Amino acid sequence: MLQHIRLFLISMIEKIKEQEKLSLLLDPPQDQREAWNQEVLSHTAQFLNSLDHVNAYYQNEDKGAGILNYDLNDEPSPLSELLQGLKSHIEEDGINPASGGHMGYIPGGGLYPSALGDYLAAISNKYAGIFFPAPGAVRLENMLLRWMSRLMGFPETATGNLTSGGSISNLIAVVTAREASGTKAADFHRLVIYLSDQAHHSLQKSLRIAGLGEAQLRYIPLDAEFRMDSQVLKEVIKKDQEADLIPFIINASMGTTNTGTIDPIAEIATIATENKIWYHVDAAYGGFFKLLPELEKEFKGIDKADSITLDPHKCLFLPFGTGAVLIKNKKALYQAHQYTADYLQDLIDVEEEVNPSDVSPELTKHFRGLRMWLPLKLFGLNPFRAALREKLLLAQYFHKEIQKIPGFVVGPEPDLSIAIFRYIPENGDANSFNEKLIKTIQDDGRIFLSSTTLDGIFWIRVAVVIFRTHLKHLDLLLEIVKTEMPKILKS
Ligand SMILES: *Cc1c(COP(=O)(O)O)cnc(C)c1O
Repeated sequence: MLQHIRLFLISMIEKIKEQEKLSLLLDPPQDQREAWNQEVLSHTAQFLNSLDHVNAYYQNEDKGAGILNYDLNDEPSPLSELLQGLKSHIEEDGINPASGGHMGYIPGGGLYPSALGDYLAAISNKYAGIFFPAPGAVRLENMLLRWMSRLMGFPETATGNLTSGGSISNLIAVVTAREASGTKAADFHRLVIYLSDQAHHSLQKSLRIAGLGEAQLRYIPLDAEFRMDSQVLKEVIKKDQEADLIPFIINASMGTTNTGTIDPIAEIATIATENKIWYHVDAAYGGFFKLLPELEKEFKGIDKADSITLDPHKCLFLPFGTGAVLIKNKKALYQAHQYTADYLQDLIDVEEEVNPSDVSPELTKHFRGLRMWLPLKLFGLNPFRAALREKLLLAQYFHKEIQKIPGFVVGPEPDLSIAIFRYIPENGDANSFNEKLIKTIQDDGRIFLSSTTLDGIFWIRVAVVIFRTHLKHLDLLLEIVKTEMPKILKS
């Protein structure tokens, strides 16, 4: 009998060893790691060194479908083959967000040290969702949030979260406002949200996700420069109060996505305070311009907000996947997100640091603080200020220069780093002409721009956001426009 058990154990150990042999492949030794590192580093070096000569936009016929030949199977593949697939079917397809020529939508960043930060985060794989398993990681993320709070003039008691982007930040702000209002579902249809039609659509999306789809949206008209008209806002709130509705959130844009326009932040702050309405400032695009002291006037009143959305993957030039939200009302933030809930709320202030998982829909999360902290520490803040100032000046430069080409008109002087322009032909439909113009620029590919419609008018946008966008890119754009114009006019 004993003999039988002994044999069984031996065969079991043999089986374990056999599996271990294969599973050890998941933990390659140093020489294998070094070989891979070298291949990846030479791939990325080639990518980065070629940025000056490659397109900002590629239009391949198969639209990346070649990557489907790399579906998963049981056998291993060599790294060189996979990197080749990445290059041909992903990197050289669609928009190239690493290129300084990308000025469409709100472009991204991709600071090199952020990639190293992600590498470090993935290697140690610290569990940054909760203080206990990773106190240092949580402290680092909260330190970054406190820095952003100070930058915005928020008190030390404000809390926040490093999110995956501005949309989740807006969602966290909306559900927190919902908890703070104390409104029950039966009254959701009486809630009113004040915004302009230039507000980012992630706000409406957040309201729907937050169960507030029945709430009423009041689109406050814009003045001639696309800013929310605060006088009308005041009157509309008064009417709603008289109609027994519940003014709930005012959303102001610190830089609209369309035109980079800044709503009258301070005037709206006064209205929100007087009427005790949750004041949300969506500063996803514009927030980090606060690093520039010369913009102090534009940011006046942002410290009066109840919540602010920021997007380090926009104007702090980080790679995609990092947003932030700052919230003054810690209790409501916890009420909305902490699951182990109400009976623990007295413990909140006993904890040394806020657990990210208590203030966000996430539990396990990417330790995204490292990709933000590393570049900010390595470079210091001054190059960031210079890059932001450069972007503002480049947008102003373009706004001036494009007007020198006969037939071109522009939108208002840019508040931040987005300018809009269009061509008015002597005869024929202006909108369809500008549609042709943007198609021509996109077909050329060296510069990528996108368009928008304001009051039925088709505008082309130039959004200068990428840290690699410099004077030469704006000059190239002007040159492309000058060369292509006569061809379009003749066609
Ligand atoms: C980009 C943007 C968002 C959405 O942010 P994501 O990071 O794309 O989720 C929200 N609001 C404004 C004003 C934006 O510019």
